[in-house]
Amino acid sequence: MRVFKFGGASLKNANAIINMVSIVCSNKNEHPLIVVVSAMGKTTNALEIILQNALNGKDYMQDLNKLKNYHLETASDLENNDSSNITNLVNNLFQSFEIKLKELVNQYNGSVESYQFSYDQIVSYGELLSSNIVSEYMNLTGIKNSWLDAREIIVTDSTYTEGKVNWKKTNDRVKKQITKFNGIKITQGFIGADPYNNTTTLGREGSDFTGAIFANCLNAESLTIWKDVPGILNADPKIFHDAQLYDYLSYREAAEMTYYGASVIHPKTIKPLANKKIPLNVRSFERPGETGTLIGNEKSHKVFPAFITKNNQALVSFKVKDFSFIDENNLTTIFHTITNLNIKLNLMQNSATSFSICIDYKEYQVNRLIEQLSSEFKILFNKKLQLITVKNYTEESIERFKEEKILLEQRSRNNYRIVVGEDITF
Ligand code: ASP
Ligand code: MG
Repeated sequence: MRVFKFGGASLKNANAIINMVSIVCSNKNEHPLIVVVSAMGKTTNALEIILQNALNGKDYMQDLNKLKNYHLETASDLENNDSSNITNLVNNLFQSFEIKLKELVNQYNGSVESYQFSYDQIVSYGELLSSNIVSEYMNLTGIKNSWLDAREIIVTDSTYTEGKVNWKKTNDRVKKQITKFNGIKITQGFIGADPYNNTTTLGREGSDFTGAIFANCLNAESLTIWKDVPGILNADPKIFHDAQLYDYLSYREAAEMTYYGASVIHPKTIKPLANKKIPLNVRSFERPGETGTLIGNEKSHKVFPAFITKNNQALVSFKVKDFSFIDENNLTTIFHTITNLNIKLNLMQNSATSFSICIDYKEYQVNRLIEQLSSEFKILFNKKLQLITVKNYTEESIERFKEEKILLEQRSRNNYRIVVGEDITF
């Protein structure tokens, strides 16, 4: 058994879907296969906007029709002249989508909980649409497959928008539902259901994680994530012209990269695979002949430096007001507030009289942080920053930052980290 995961870019139109299905077909004879798909292209973003506008009483029909036409166009491009099966499927799904949306708008009470519940019921349609389109297209071209509803398999709690997986129940369901290990199964990434059968989602970009859940529960031979990049590169090729490909990375190395902000795979993906020593391949759907990056249990030798950037950062510094020092007591006060506000620290540093943190900039969080601590500390704050981590740095690799205005710098044996303005490119 193997698991393949295809993201939105690999399903963005009819040609992309034809290419993706041909990748599935060229692998189908060797092994039984589970294919996990995301929503087509930027569908999830579009669904988020439609939902927000609908719940806020604003016009959403224009965006809804645009999204519907996008799926209908893809459907008709994939159909033979005499068939309209895919189109019918898309129409039916949009019909139930509109009914559900109206129902949710009527029930909406303005609370965060009510928004998050509605989010999962609506945004999950992206994956329901794409998986149905792919499965029906395969039927049409004579490729036997079965469509699986991930909501009947992936069991989560009721933390809507960030469902936590119930591994025991999910394991049982996977084993029950996927008994015959032959043929191709098409299912959805990103979605599951809680014990009350309400749809849940696993967090943005969560389809990689779904792939890893299936791989773990099935003791799969491998998980392959098909991407629009050649594999895992040591920098974002959009900002770094000489980005290099890693042939091999250890689970630890890859997991740490996702921690520092590498967005090529979802941070939750590695653990379920590492626990069972299941190899992860990250490969290009544009160049399926190439092997991409393999991630596994062996140590990586001589890993060349990785440049990982996180944008939209804020640097907040707390300075003691009198002539005292930063100590355990005032750190406890700061951490207490940070925890209560659900702020995630990307980096921290202290000196005798000040303590600095680098966090993702969210206006309401930063405002509340300042509000709650300004009676005790003098607080300085900068936004529009980027955090750059050079993992496995060499002196030569960090040469390029020498001339930059660095607001904060940190160095350990393996990592070099700086906070700089967002305008710096390298
Ligand atoms: N479609 C979802 C998203 O865009 C899940 C995923 O792509 O992995 O967040
Ligand atoms: Mg997506």
